Amino acid sequence: MSETKPTILVTGGAGYIGSHAVLSLQKAGYDVIVFDNLSYGHPEIVKDVLNVELIIGDTKNRSLLDEIFSSRQIAAVMHFAAFIAVGESVQNPTIYYQNNVQGTLTLLEAMLAANINKLVFSSTCAIYGMPQEIPMTENHPNNPLSPYARSKYMVEQILQDFDKAYGLNSVVFRYFNASGADPSGNLGEDHTPETHLIPLALLTALKKRDNLFIFGTDYDTPDGTAVRDYIHVNDLASAHVLGLKYLLEGGKSDMFNLGNGNGFSVREVINTAKKVTGIDFLVKESDRRPGDPSMLVGSSQKAQSILGWQPQYSDLETIVNHAWQWHQKRHSHS
Ligand code: UDP
Repeated sequence: MSETKPTILVTGGAGYIGSHAVLSLQKAGYDVIVFDNLSYGHPEIVKDVLNVELIIGDTKNRSLLDEIFSSRQIAAVMHFAAFIAVGESVQNPTIYYQNNVQGTLTLLEAMLAANINKLVFSSTCAIYGMPQEIPMTENHPNNPLSPYARSKYMVEQILQDFDKAYGLNSVVFRYFNASGADPSGNLGEDHTPETHLIPLALLTALKKRDNLFIFGTDYDTPDGTAVRDYIHVNDLASAHVLGLKYLLEGGKSDMFNLGNGNGFSVREVINTAKKVTGIDFLVKESDRRPGDPSMLVGSSQKAQSILGWQPQYSDLETIVNHAWQWHQKRHSHS
């Protein structure tokens, strides 16, 4: 490719979804700089796998952001850096509002001071709260139920105000359940502590955990376990590249759901994990997790029609298989 592509700053690029977005940006020919405070991110992924510049820093550090924005030609920012644990946010809302809201506000102020007015932002379907209709569209009423979800919702509102007042253009993506891994097996989900179903099932198959708990078997769903919309992380990443392109071509601020449109129950996920791994790991039934809705399934028609997004990996077995490739590689020496 002879044409020079713009440079994109990716906050949280050392994390799960951010690192996959960096890979997609690279494949699309963009230059990428990762900005991450490494509170949860993995620097070796940025340096050894993605091979891009890593600036270790916090979104609350205005002077560092000013220095970065004034010393480089950055066309747009993709903002993934955030705390993501719902339960922790209930226990310690302060750090969620500081990191997710104050950090984003500082980032936006620094962007505006440097005349950078394009942002792609990671939000969540958790801003909708308990579903009133399935599949959920972007018009579903907003009722965020945790400090985590409220922190994302507040930023969405800030972005709307900043567009009106300062002309900051943003694409907001509301993710359903991010899952899977890059098929190369070089990137994947590695949270500490891990709370998500698919990695926990695979860690149990790998004997890193004694058993997997099913949280709730008395939901009003076909098999009594909760249903979620698992969307492959590479499909999330490809949407981010399309959202960026849309903004760079002058698209107006908008928000989009990103889900695969299919719901899978906890039992279906477990059975798929057993099939993919060939390991019959121990599963125990336990009570519902407080606040968990019975069913979350998104409609992503809007992203498909406006951005031309088309998820490639909607099949649960493929999603779990890719996650399994990563987990096997990740734990091959431990
Ligand atoms: N879940 C479960 N056991 C676990 C972890 C999760 O049964 O060890 C269930 C959880 O209650 C939810 C679904 O699996 O119904 C997906 O949970 P996850 O934490 O992966 O994502 P969430 O939907 O909470 O964002």
